[in-house]
Amino acid sequence: MGVGGASNLTEQVAAIIDRYPGGVKMVDSIEFLVAWARANSMWPLIYGTACCAMEMMAAGSSRHDWARFGVEVARATPRQADLIVLAGTIVEKMGKNLITLYEQMPAPKYVIAMGSCAISGGPFYYDAYSVIKGGDRLIPVDVYVPGCPPRPEALLYGIMELQEKIKKEGRRNPWKIGDILTTPFIDTHTKAKKDWVILEQKKDQEQQAARKQFKLDNPDFKPAKAVRLKKEKFEAIKPETREPQGISNLVLLQKIQLQFPKISVSPQEDILDLTVPRNNYTDLIQFLKQNDELGLDLLLQLSAIDWKDHFDILVHLLSTRDGHKLFLRCRVDKEDPEIDTISNIFRGAEWHEREVYDLFGIRFRNHPDMRRIFLNKDFPGHPLRKDFEDPERVIKRPY
Ligand code: SF4
Repeated sequence: MGVGGASNLTEQVAAIIDRYPGGVKMVDSIEFLVAWARANSMWPLIYGTACCAMEMMAAGSSRHDWARFGVEVARATPRQADLIVLAGTIVEKMGKNLITLYEQMPAPKYVIAMGSCAISGGPFYYDAYSVIKGGDRLIPVDVYVPGCPPRPEALLYGIMELQEKIKKEGRRNPWKIGDILTTPFIDTHTKAKKDWVILEQKKDQEQQAARKQFKLDNPDFKPAKAVRLKKEKFEAIKPETREPQGISNLVLLQKIQLQFPKISVSPQEDILDLTVPRNNYTDLIQFLKQNDELGLDLLLQLSAIDWKDHFDILVHLLSTRDGHKLFLRCRVDKEDPEIDTISNIFRGAEWHEREVYDLFGIRFRNHPDMRRIFLNKDFPGHPLRKDFEDPERVIKRPY
């Protein structure tokens, strides 16, 4: 592939024409026209992975309308795309797919990193186990649009900057087809922070000297006194009292303890929080779902807590008919982190349990598909465990 996406043959023809009087000007003019046309007809590949994608969509919709800049035909295929806007957080599991998409785009192709996540990992730079610290660690980025999120106007400005860049491309200012990057990982934030501290110290010293000089030059100067504005008083808003929905906690507990006398309850909770022995775990959940009176028929969530010496499995249930809810927690040993699945009672538990397995390493006996759900197969360890450490991926917050 030649410069600006031209084929080798085109380049050879251009090199021949160059030799004739006026040839260079003619080839340059054609190149300018081609670059101008390309700059004003960018076709983006949709790549919105988090909140920034909302702003990107806004940039494409009627109010901002990026079609005014020739950015059209946003599609979910790399086939005819020549622009990819990285709008959102890029996680490790998605990294390979992003590289594949970029490789599948025909050259010449361009990348805009929109928002601090796509630029550097953003708010997930520190203490995050799965976020790539910037799209340019995977593919070459042409324009960076800072912000969290940047507004659509900022993206439009980024597009205009890219257009300027494309318009200057040609054989005499060649565009290089970006190689997939293999930049070794460095903690750029910490370095920038150190540089920043030095800069601030220098600024302070300069300011101190300037103040001193000002006092010498203006010995009678008296600064205006700051007057504190009176604080406006607002009437306190009374908290709204909400009627409890469905069966009261007390009645719920009585009915449960009739069947399962060993179940205890955490004191002073607005919501019923039951502690369930291991041997009652699945029986109790079955009972809560199938009992007509209780009717706890919806699994809101199944998650876990690492208490360092043991895990708790937490199950949150709701009655869609009456509105009452409850939590139940069951202890799982650290040495043998295994418990029965409840995916045969609530189908929705299947993914929740895979998530708990992925992040805590707790296995669910008789689960139909016990494998990771978020992270790559070869991810080392379970990142939500308190003892998880991975200096390759996780940069500890230095403050
Ligand atoms: S930069 Fe901010 S707004 Fe954009 S994806 Fe990241 S967290 Fe969301």
